[in-house]
Amino acid sequence: MEKILNYINGKLIEPVSNKWLENYNPAIGTVYSLIPDSTKEDVENAQKAALNSFHKWSKSSIKERSTVLQKIADLIIERQDDLAMAESIDNGKPLALAKKVDIPRAATNMSFFASAILHENSESHHMSNVAINYTLRKPIGVVGCISPWNLPLYLFTWKIAPALAAGNTVVAKPSEITPMTAFLFSKICIDAGLPKGVLNIVHGLGPKVGHEITKHPNIKAISFTGGTLTGQKIAEVAAPMFKKLSLELGGKNPNIIFSDCDLEKAVSSSVLSSFSNQGQICLCGSRIFIERKIYDKFKEKFLEKVKALNIGDPLEKTTKIGALVSSQHMNKVLNHIKIAKQEGGILLSGGKQFIPKGRCANGYFVEPTVFEGLSFDCSTNQEEIFGPVVTLTPFDSEEEVINFANSTKYGLCSMVWTSDLNRANRMSDQLQSGIVWINCWLVRDLRTPFGGMKESGVGREGGTYALNFFTETTNVCISYN
Ligand code: NAD
Repeated sequence: MEKILNYINGKLIEPVSNKWLENYNPAIGTVYSLIPDSTKEDVENAQKAALNSFHKWSKSSIKERSTVLQKIADLIIERQDDLAMAESIDNGKPLALAKKVDIPRAATNMSFFASAILHENSESHHMSNVAINYTLRKPIGVVGCISPWNLPLYLFTWKIAPALAAGNTVVAKPSEITPMTAFLFSKICIDAGLPKGVLNIVHGLGPKVGHEITKHPNIKAISFTGGTLTGQKIAEVAAPMFKKLSLELGGKNPNIIFSDCDLEKAVSSSVLSSFSNQGQICLCGSRIFIERKIYDKFKEKFLEKVKALNIGDPLEKTTKIGALVSSQHMNKVLNHIKIAKQEGGILLSGGKQFIPKGRCANGYFVEPTVFEGLSFDCSTNQEEIFGPVVTLTPFDSEEEVINFANSTKYGLCSMVWTSDLNRANRMSDQLQSGIVWINCWLVRDLRTPFGGMKESGVGREGGTYALNFFTETTNVCISYN
């Protein structure tokens, strides 16, 4: 059985303990590879390698750093078919989605930051006749990057690219549930000529490897994407050590449909924002609020499209809904469906595990599920489910829907569908979320601030925001006299 290896000091190596974890293919429900069950010793070796390579890498020219990051981007594109296949097998997502979204975006993350550092500039502040100040931005040192399973290579590179571009060296940990593309990525880094020790990838469990990275005194900043509870645990360890922390956490995003919207567009986009990647995107809109006048019309059109979604083998070209990432996650989602029924939810579509015919008969599939009749404050509408489950709720006024939308502990993104520009502006001002999409969903410009309010996170990623996070600032003040 294939063994995934750690990438430490430029080499692919087995874990010190020689212990291994099983890696599942969720679409067929079987183990297909082994992952290092790494420990403190592996993290120690990774951090030593990162520390040793920091001086040279941080002093390299931006042209050198940019060139190697661009080379990595080029190799991702060259190997995109293999990477997309690996992502689909490891995660359960449709191959077509991995080809269209995950892998191209991973390449874009690398090339975006390869280019961004070439165009970076810093501020100066002039005090007339007194002094001039200029801002120096310096790499922090060794930084830790910890990522989740839902968009494995996409989110892994979204952290690593700005960290390396800014001149840091990195100890990174992908999710133990989807480690394969990070392993393939380490081979790409070797082939691209990334100097040894600059990036180190340690595979293994969160409470072991992730925790060791978080608490290591030589690792000066932690960029984390994952669940809110894990974010809390990381903050408990890292905050008293005064580490820089970027936390991208959970969401329970509202998708708000006003009666003056382009209904066809709103319906089609809502199907995507509900069920893309089996609803396992932090930006999915799982609470759909519809102005009462068009509630029935929206519901009818939405359900027609949901029922037509092709669910099954992720490798089939026509598949729109693949497998959930693990049996544990499938059971968690099925339990949420049970709770929604207990809370009085009326099931409009789906609601069960789906068992495909053929090779995927033992996979972890759940039907795209739609409920109505639930109050905005019940647990189904408050807790993150992170699966193919959405609710439909009517509303009568802007004031009411703002109250519904802002009622959760989360604040990641919101979608608003309306043709009234003034209303769009009023809503954007009042919605408690880091991102508001008006008449669209998941349109991403990588220069923009990305992140959440409330328990959806701390800090922002993207463009200058990410480069600022991964640098320390020194203000230099030069007197004129
Ligand atoms: P998770 O929190 O279980 O795991 C994320 C990563 O943290 C994994 O690599 C895991 O091994 C590691 N980890 C676990 N315990 C740790 C610990 N004690 N110390 C350090 N690291 C630890 O999340 P998940 O289940 O992989 O991902 C799903 C969650 O991620 C959802 O809540 C989703 O909303 C969120 N998410 C957020 C964003 C965003 O940008 N805000 C994007 C994607 C996913």
